[in-house]
Amino acid sequence: MSSPLLKVIARNIQDHGPMDLGEYMALCLSHPEHGYYMTRDPFGRGGDFITAPEVSQLFGEMIGVWFADLWIKMGSPPEFVLLECGPGRGTLMADILRATKSVKGFHEAAQIHLMEISPVLKAAQKAVLADYDPHWIDDLSALPPSVPVLIVANEFLDALPVRQLERRGGQWMERTVSLLGDDMLMPSYKPLDDAWKPDIIDNGKDGVFEISLVLNQVIKSVDILLKKQGGAALFIDYGHTQSAMGDTLQAVKTHRFASIFDTPGECDITAHVDFENIKKIAMADGVNVHGPVTQSTFLIELGIRVRAEALKAGAKPDQAKQIEEGLIRLIDTAQMGTLFKVLALCDDPQIMPAGFHESL
Ligand code: SAH
Repeated sequence: MSSPLLKVIARNIQDHGPMDLGEYMALCLSHPEHGYYMTRDPFGRGGDFITAPEVSQLFGEMIGVWFADLWIKMGSPPEFVLLECGPGRGTLMADILRATKSVKGFHEAAQIHLMEISPVLKAAQKAVLADYDPHWIDDLSALPPSVPVLIVANEFLDALPVRQLERRGGQWMERTVSLLGDDMLMPSYKPLDDAWKPDIIDNGKDGVFEISLVLNQVIKSVDILLKKQGGAALFIDYGHTQSAMGDTLQAVKTHRFASIFDTPGECDITAHVDFENIKKIAMADGVNVHGPVTQSTFLIELGIRVRAEALKAGAKPDQAKQIEEGLIRLIDTAQMGTLFKVLALCDDPQIMPAGFHESL
């Protein structure tokens, strides 16, 4: 099926040859004119998918509790950066700020920053966070240089481009995207760059191993920030606790799976996050790692059930039903509860962030 971005990608392949999947995914999601995130608000029932903050306010409230607790454990610094990466509609940040309103000094100290590529979503964030004077940045290097940083990212890392390496008949290759005729995309292969070899987890069978250079760079930049300025980062995403082979790249359109080659720019494309890889990078950088734990364990330890009961007590029956449904969706093991994992990075070895007693 055709799309304006298909023409751009086809021309690119005609001019430069097959492209790797990382390049393809980056164009699909963030091509300045036709990229998926650049042109739409993809969330909610009428959109393509729904995320935890959009499911229930309970999610953002628990993250707010987590940050307030951490900030107090850090000695309540009078100034700090509160950064969200990939804030979507701004719902999570709005809920964090609402939940921390009565934490003395927290709002006065917080300098709110948002790292977002989408102009459409930036406008939504501007409207939702109008009372808080947020600053938008394009890159982590643009943050104020000398205050501690507290970072949150929900379903941000899964949107960063991955490359797929494939073992076929015992031979490692890299998956690429080629053109058939004028406008049909198809999978192809190129020889593997030797530099990748040490990073591959090879289980001895044919299959796919995914690597995201962009994600690795984001984690390294966060580590540098935490070591230099102090603070913590909280990552919530769907993914696996141990590095393993597996093809997790998927496209979703109107709540249904699609082919990643279908109508480029019109489907969300994501890959599962390899939390062991994040852990390894952070440990090598000398940053303390907490978790991963499942989203269910994390939210329950932070008191989501108690908060849900309190909200329900003051609600009308249909609202109470909605609150309960949201809670179940967030923590149930058959829904978002175990597929989603939570991991925190913290510069200070003395600080034990809440929610990580049962690390996997
Ligand atoms: N955190 C939100 C949105 C998740 S969707 C929620 O939970 O609802 C992914 C978000 O990351 C979107 O806001 C998207 O525009 C943004 N994004 C994707 N790639 C990005 C990049 N490279 N830099 C900044 N933002 C990015």
